[in-house]
Amino acid sequence: MSDTVRVRFAPSPTGGLHLGGIRTVLYNYLFAKQNNGKFIVRIEDTDQTRFVAGAEEYIFNCLKWIGLEPDESPIHGGNYGPYRQSERKEIYKKYAEQLIKDGFAYYAFDTPVELEKMRHDFKTEHNPSQQYDHNVRMKMCNSLTLSADEVNKLLSNKEVKSVIRIKMPEKKIVSFTDLIRGEISFDTSVVDDKVLLKADGMPTYHLAVVVDDYLMKITHAFRGEEWLPSAPVHVLLWKYLFGLDQMPQWAHLPLILGSSGKLSKRDGLKYGFPVLAMNWLDPKTGVMANGFKELGFVPEAFINFLALLGWNDGTEQEIFSLEELIEKFSIERIHAAGAKFDYEKAKWFNHEWLKKLTATDLKEKVAAILSAQSIETKDNSYLCNVIDLVKDRCILLTDFYEQSLFFFKTPEQFDTESILSKWDESKKEFFIDWQIQLMNLPTWTSSALESNFKELAQQKNIKQGDLLLPLRIMLVGRKFGPPVFQIAELLEKKETISRIKTVLANLNS
Ligand code: GLU
Repeated sequence: MSDTVRVRFAPSPTGGLHLGGIRTVLYNYLFAKQNNGKFIVRIEDTDQTRFVAGAEEYIFNCLKWIGLEPDESPIHGGNYGPYRQSERKEIYKKYAEQLIKDGFAYYAFDTPVELEKMRHDFKTEHNPSQQYDHNVRMKMCNSLTLSADEVNKLLSNKEVKSVIRIKMPEKKIVSFTDLIRGEISFDTSVVDDKVLLKADGMPTYHLAVVVDDYLMKITHAFRGEEWLPSAPVHVLLWKYLFGLDQMPQWAHLPLILGSSGKLSKRDGLKYGFPVLAMNWLDPKTGVMANGFKELGFVPEAFINFLALLGWNDGTEQEIFSLEELIEKFSIERIHAAGAKFDYEKAKWFNHEWLKKLTATDLKEKVAAILSAQSIETKDNSYLCNVIDLVKDRCILLTDFYEQSLFFFKTPEQFDTESILSKWDESKKEFFIDWQIQLMNLPTWTSSALESNFKELAQQKNIKQGDLLLPLRIMLVGRKFGPPVFQIAELLEKKETISRIKTVLANLNS
């Protein structure tokens, strides 16, 4: 194994990238960066039947959005390419043939009809779908049951389809030490003779993952718990092909749980939250699945809550930047049990991050949200001032639209009813006089505005508190928003006075 830490994320480009996939990326990335190692993305696209157009590009777009850029990948290059398994087809065959030569694998010529018949004929009450394994392999059409001549004849016949299968040993215990779960053992008798090389010459995942992890000098492999049942096949392939001392150290990450069991698309649809990183338009069904990005999550929050789905640093700390995560991440503190996803908590993280990020950090994202609604954001410093004023009130980036619209557009409607319920002549006079005073106010700051407002209220013997709600509705249109004199400061003199006048005129009519 190489001295440099080399980890890989190995997605199959079959659709949108869900939370579990991104968390696998994140843990790989954190571990690599913490150890000055390399983070590699390898595209596992050997199953041509599951190929989905656009899925690979989508994966790289997601990585770009969250800012976890690979050191090596099909698009970033590297010394161990190609990084797309479909482009490595020629590499795998010799390893499969080596396994046959050494007696660890065999050719199988069974047709789909014969396979179906086997599953049916050998099924029992406890085993409703018989697998291709040590129980049946000697009754099938393969290089273990045919003579060498027959095998050669079949292999040279272009009409005959053949696969290569691993010959799983009987009654052997295969073990390995998982970095999260400790020692794990499997009884090989219950594992089937997995196909390693398919009839189209492509390897299956099992062969390709072992060969590529070896050739790409992978030192640690983090992958989802759902791959644990495949581990005995992989351990044996390592043993047969390269030696167990070459095998990467594995960490099988806990599942992310939804309402019942593994978090699924169905949970998302049922409870109205996304399970994908970014919007994914399924080219086959034309159905769009929502992503965290488009719903208004900032990548800092997305990474933060994902990191904590299965890991903590042992303290009460919940808010972590990427740099802190790189520093504090540790495999020992990943829990083996599944981690429950809570959308409300995810939103809490986003809110905390919106408070923490600066207007400069947020301005491009907010401008994009506003311009998607045809709102022009005026100059940069105005936009930044608005963001500073409203960001604590936003949970999602998309909330900036509602929270800041009145800074960019005069409200079309004013809640005059709420003003009228406590309106009288003295208040009306107050606002008529105040807007005249405003015209001559020498400094236009929230504190100057506030003291001027207070003074006039005192002179007129009206409680300031009774005047604030009408003022707010005059400037915002409704009963919400940040401190009202700060709003007026940003709106500036002309617009502030104009809004007061508009509402006064409405109240009179
Ligand atoms: N191609 C597998 C997947 O989709 C990768 C499993 C692994 O990391 O070994 O998820």
